[in-house]
Amino acid sequence: MQKITIAIDGHSSCGKSTLAKDLARELNYVYVDSGAMYRAVTYYAIQNGLISNGDLDQIALINALNDLNITFQKSADAVHPEVFLNGQNVESKIRGLEVSNYVSTVAAIQEVREFLVEQQRQMGENGGVVMDGRDIGSVVFPNAELKIFLTADTDIRAERRFKELTGKGEDVDLQAIKENLIKRDHLDTTRKESPLKQTEDAVVIDNTHLSKAEQLLLLKQLVADRSVTI
Ligand code: C5P
Repeated sequence: MQKITIAIDGHSSCGKSTLAKDLARELNYVYVDSGAMYRAVTYYAIQNGLISNGDLDQIALINALNDLNITFQKSADAVHPEVFLNGQNVESKIRGLEVSNYVSTVAAIQEVREFLVEQQRQMGENGGVVMDGRDIGSVVFPNAELKIFLTADTDIRAERRFKELTGKGEDVDLQAIKENLIKRDHLDTTRKESPLKQTEDAVVIDNTHLSKAEQLLLLKQLVADRSVTI
C-alpha cells in the first residue's frame, strides 16, 4: 500500500499522541509528536532562566533557538521514540504541569513556530509519517492525504490526563489539570500564529465515548481508504 502523510490535530489531552503512536507502529510509519518539540523549547526556557515570575524573555529565547537541537530517539527499553534536547532525554521532564503552564505562550511566538515547522516538514518529507499537533493539517502539511481533528469532552480529557500523570507517580490535582486544558485550548485557538482550527477536509472524531481500540480501527479504515485512492 502507498505510504501517505497523516495529520492528527485537536484539543489538548484528547489522546492524539497515543492514537498517533499506535497507528504509526501498526503501519510502520514514522511518528512525530510536534507538541513534544514545543514542550522541549519551553523546558529549555525554564531551565535557562528565561522565564521569571511568570514572564518569558521572548528575545532571549528567539536568540537561543539555534542552540537547540531537538531529536526523537528510541531507547532500547522504550516502545516509542522519545524526545531529546541537546542530547539529553527530556521525555518525562517535558510532561509536567510547569512546562504545560508555559508551553502555549512559547508556542504563540512566530519565530519558535517557524523554527520548529521547518524541522517538522523535513521529518515528514518522504511521506509515511503520522504527526500530531495543532497546525499539522493547516500549516505543516496542508496537502496531507488524511487529516483528523480529534476532540473530547473536557472533563473526560482532564480525568484521562490525571490518570496518566498519577500513573507515572506524579502528585497532581485534577482541577489544576482541567484549568490548564481550558487555558491551553483558549490560547491555542485564539493566537495569531497558526491557531488550532479544524480544516474543511479534516475528519472530525469526538472520542469521548470511544475506546483506544475503536479509534485505531476507525483510523486504519480511513488510511486504507485514502491509500487506495491516491
Ligand atoms: O500536544 P501537546 O499537548 O503536548 O502540545 C503542547 C502545546 O504545544 C499545545 O498546547 C500548543 O500550545 C503547542 N503546540 C502547537 N502546535 C503544535 C503542537 C503543539 O502550538 N503543532
